[in-house]
Amino acid sequence: MTLLGAAQIRELAAQLDLKPSKSLGQNFVIDSNVCTKIVRTAGVTKDDIALEIGPGLGSLTLAMLEAAQSVIAVEIDPRLAEQLPITVAQHFAHPENLTVINKDALAVHDLSVAPTVLVANLPYNVSVPVLLHLLEKFPSIRTGVVMVQAEVADRLAAKPGGKEYGIPSVKAAWWAEVKNAGTVSRSIFWPAPNVDSKLVGFTRRQTAGSEEMREKVFTIIDAAFAQRRKMLRSALSSLYGSSSAAEEILIKASIDPTLRGEALEVKSFCQIAAVAPDIF
Ligand code: SAM
Repeated sequence: MTLLGAAQIRELAAQLDLKPSKSLGQNFVIDSNVCTKIVRTAGVTKDDIALEIGPGLGSLTLAMLEAAQSVIAVEIDPRLAEQLPITVAQHFAHPENLTVINKDALAVHDLSVAPTVLVANLPYNVSVPVLLHLLEKFPSIRTGVVMVQAEVADRLAAKPGGKEYGIPSVKAAWWAEVKNAGTVSRSIFWPAPNVDSKLVGFTRRQTAGSEEMREKVFTIIDAAFAQRRKMLRSALSSLYGSSSAAEEILIKASIDPTLRGEALEVKSFCQIAAVAPDIF
């Protein structure tokens, strides 16, 4: 197996006459050591069926094929999706271990084989929705490592109390234990992005309730952070009709109504949902 370096990536892009698209977040990794490190950080083994979103020109895909039993790669750009099996066949002895799906990751709702691990250099403009979507739709994903914009990584891994803590932090925490897993230099990409990147690792946890409960909890989270400077009794007033109705629910849930959403961990949002009326 030979992994792709800067020269091969540029050659492939020239061959495809590819002008990297900003809106699709096309910044390709040109340092194979980084790809190996990401796969190692994710702890991928030969028992794993790895899911990759946005394989691009295949740098990370090849590193993953070496470590995993098989890889499912979901790529929105048809030129890249078409080229990937060709590149893999040129560099890897078992190209049959790769399945490429030419689709928007947000439109993937089922797969013929259940993935066990997610490893991806995510397209930055949709990284949070894609991550939450996959955690929801594929409970077989137990663990993973994704590369995202540094600020987004900090938000995903944030704990209550800080300015980074918000909707992505609490919703991700519903599904998984999320941690920062290291920084990545801009120089390992072509083209180099205008933002810094970080790795985020996650391990799925037992969720605190049913799908119905999750929807209720997520609605409360959205309302609490829509006006994050407001106290909860006021931020939740639009959901429950008035701030006194919201206050009553919060007291019943043993949550101080004068707190802000940013003070609550996901468990506390569950306490609110457990005593709140259905609002659908
Ligand atoms: N994995 C490659 C690498 O590390 O070099 C490319 C990563 S690049 C940051 C993001 C990739 O995601 C691009 O190949 C882009 O075409 C693809 N992409 C963008 N939006 C997508 C979406 N909604 N669903 C699936 N793939 C998407």
